[in-house]
Amino acid sequence: MRLIENWFSERYSDNLQLSFRVKDQLLSIKTDYQRIDLFDTYDFGKLLSIDGTVQLTEKDEYVYHEMITMIPYYFNKKPKNALIIGGGDGGAAKRLLKLNFENIVNAEIDQNVVEVSKKYFPEIASSFNDKRVKLIIGDGIKYVKNSSEKFDRIIIDSTDPVGPAEGLFSEEFYRDIKNHLTDDGIVVTQSGSPYYQEGALSLAYKGLSEVFSNVKSYLAFIPTYPSGLWSFTMASKSEFTVRDENVINGIYFNKDVLTGSFYLPEFVKKIIY
Ligand code: SAM
Repeated sequence: MRLIENWFSERYSDNLQLSFRVKDQLLSIKTDYQRIDLFDTYDFGKLLSIDGTVQLTEKDEYVYHEMITMIPYYFNKKPKNALIIGGGDGGAAKRLLKLNFENIVNAEIDQNVVEVSKKYFPEIASSFNDKRVKLIIGDGIKYVKNSSEKFDRIIIDSTDPVGPAEGLFSEEFYRDIKNHLTDDGIVVTQSGSPYYQEGALSLAYKGLSEVFSNVKSYLAFIPTYPSGLWSFTMASKSEFTVRDENVINGIYFNKDVLTGSFYLPEFVKKIIY
């Protein structure tokens, strides 16, 4: 008897892709903004993909979500409120709640991402049931243009810079973000794989540098993202200072990672400087 195997592959280049063997495909929908697929994989549990690219898996989502929230958390004055742009899975909001943020506004463009996450990742999406989290379904770019509230942290938890997220990597957007930051507030954006998506990192770093006097990129190991090496870039109007307080360990994040993730290999420095 012939064994039938099912695989989901994310293409990194014309010549390379990463494939996950899947037990089942649980969902595939085309929304007004993107295509959403959900797979039950053998090695990484449930996997959410948007437009063919992995957004999160049950097994390694903690790296991305800890790193996009906990690194900027420990710099400058203790933050109390935050704006998340994107983040429809609820993972960033969940980590901010753990860090005792008092108010979180989450602007996600696609209601379907939230619904899918509530159904298939209920533990992660539980953040949307917390009264400290206000979910706004709408374009983050318009939200920052048309509102005036100030935030201590702004987390740009977006898809790659194509389609609805393209403008989330633009200088104009970063200028609007600046108007929403408190004096020593910090904005952080995911900035792609330095190996396969140099363009995303250089767009984010250079765009933020046009607008903010303090910009720093840092790295993390995320096994299910292209090449495994992922970058984040944070910016502020004031200098970055690590607060003198005990650091809570995550599963990935710890005191060493808080400083060590900013040490960049030479090929990454060449992309941004
Ligand atoms: N961890 C992920 C990654 O880097 O692969 C990001 C996850 S999160 C699901 C990304 C979200 O950004 C998606 O749900 C998408 O709908 C949302 N998004 C894209 N463009 C947006 C925009 N202009 N405004 C608000 N949300 C947006």
